[in-house]
Amino acid sequence: MAVTQLNPKPGMSDAEWQARVDLAALYRIVAHFRMTDFIYTHLSARVPGEDDVFLLNPYGTPFNKIRASGLVKVGFDGQVVSGGELNDAGFTIHSAVLMARPEINLVMHLHTRASVAVAAQKRGLLPISQQATILMGHLAYHDYEGIALDHGERERLAADLGDKRAMILRNHGLLTCAATVGAVWQLTYLLETACQIQIDAMAGGAELIEIPMSVAESNYACYEAQADHGERDWRAVLEILDGADYAT
Ligand SMILES: [Zn+2]
Repeated sequence: MAVTQLNPKPGMSDAEWQARVDLAALYRIVAHFRMTDFIYTHLSARVPGEDDVFLLNPYGTPFNKIRASGLVKVGFDGQVVSGGELNDAGFTIHSAVLMARPEINLVMHLHTRASVAVAAQKRGLLPISQQATILMGHLAYHDYEGIALDHGERERLAADLGDKRAMILRNHGLLTCAATVGAVWQLTYLLETACQIQIDAMAGGAELIEIPMSVAESNYACYEAQADHGERDWRAVLEILDGADYAT
């Protein structure tokens, strides 16, 4: 389910405009849930019908001001097709996933305080919450190499991600990817919430109860078997954003 907007842009396909509206809404909902790191993270969407081009935020625009028409369109070769300046590390991370995974259309990368805190812990995400267990079967890890300005890191990012849809970037943050905007938001919400719970539970100082892996695997199977994969979540997102000017 996506909000449908008339395409106001001559020369741009309806599919590209819809991808822009969805991505702008994703930025706005990240701002709404206070998952931003000021201007220093990024979300991307593949341009439908164009195999080697994707959309990224204009570097420096606060997430609560992102508009569909203001997104930067860039090729996998790093050449900006239209729009303004982009974040170089963002280009590396997002092009890595979109190049390696043709079935993926959206990628989210965040530096939330809770996700960086979990990313700094050797054992990573622990099976101590329902949210964590839903994700654990689809979670990968990538070791920190410094700010992602080396395009050579793309191969290592893609190799570590494999066929998974969520990844903890050690000492850095989180990454999620999916075919649809609702699915990528749902994964991000689950992972961020699981990280918040882990940090809060550890801060409490009491001994933690780990959920047996058999139960974790059952929860993951339930998630995989769900019918809508985030469509209900996305309808709720659009209600929260009702009246916002992201689709302009
Ligand atoms: Zn980052």
